Amino acid sequence: MSFVKENANLVKIEDTVFKIVKLAKKAKEQYGPDAVVDATIGSLYGEDGTLVAYNTVFDTLNGISSRTKAAYAGSFTGNDNYREQVCNWLFGDIHLNLAKTVIATPGGTGAVNMTMTCCLQPGQTVLLPEVAWGSYKLMAQEYGLQTKTYSLFENDAFHLNDFRLQCKEVMDAQHKLVVVINDPCHNPTGYSLTGEEWEGVISILNECGKQGPVILLNDIAYLDYSYNLNTVHKYMENFNNISDRVAVVIAFSCSKTLTSYGLRIGAAVVLAQHQQDVDTMETVFEKMARCAWSNINNSGMENFVQVTTTHREQFEKEKAVYIDYLKKRSSILVEEARQCGLPIYPYKE
Ligand code: PLP
Repeated sequence: MSFVKENANLVKIEDTVFKIVKLAKKAKEQYGPDAVVDATIGSLYGEDGTLVAYNTVFDTLNGISSRTKAAYAGSFTGNDNYREQVCNWLFGDIHLNLAKTVIATPGGTGAVNMTMTCCLQPGQTVLLPEVAWGSYKLMAQEYGLQTKTYSLFENDAFHLNDFRLQCKEVMDAQHKLVVVINDPCHNPTGYSLTGEEWEGVISILNECGKQGPVILLNDIAYLDYSYNLNTVHKYMENFNNISDRVAVVIAFSCSKTLTSYGLRIGAAVVLAQHQQDVDTMETVFEKMARCAWSNINNSGMENFVQVTTTHREQFEKEKAVYIDYLKKRSSILVEEARQCGLPIYPYKE
């Protein structure tokens, strides 16, 4: 007898990150804290070994009124000023000629889950990177999707040939494609596609589009830690070249951008050639939001707007200090790996 649904997945979540965190903790007790480098959790830690909480972000949050904190959001798709500011933040310095909408979500997780569940039927296949954040697979399984993967690298470059092959196979089989690209600053490798690689991706997706609808899920969770913040959004101009049979959903997360993991703020940004297609996706996404989480943390959205407008300069200064730490830490890892002959994936940022 079971109280949960018949086809429920009863296997306990085994999050490898948390498992390794536990092992690291044990090792620290056994060998002493200086003998263990614990760099496993997906949160930004300072040089003092504690979680970073940006002053500009949390001082701003603390200044938000109790009534704003108490209130529901303006709508199931999120507050209008938040939706607008997400677009400014992402597309402010590039030219994008596409129809678009923004649906506020609980972190990037909400946007990824929303895209998988609203764009595919149970039993269909979602295409994932071979090396990837483990939750993609878990989300797919939970909703009854099959998964297939594409190889990420060929000679330290993005494996466009395998990407093409796997997309084509999914397309041949189900005449619909949802494919995840976690870029820039891919988790866990730190790879970012070049402009030409992005051009190649779009051309492959347009080719696939001739056989049926294609949804590119671009997970940009770590974009705001790019080493090239002035030009990092430029690759998105390639999206202007999608055919009208391709849509893009950008999964945006404030968790890493603002070190506000617990506030659960993010967005699904939908792009397509025709407004009508964007409107249809918004209708379906909004309904899913209403049913799954209703609305997003009101003060969290307000906080993003204030931090990235009124306090933008200060915030970017504060964040830059930590990007510098990441550069130093990663160069130590890359150099020491080289010295001891440890093979690593091609790291960029
Ligand atoms: N995408 C990737 C690749 C991640 O590593 C994470 C978090 O670890 C997320 C998305 C989603 O994070 P959140 O839901 O906190 O925004």
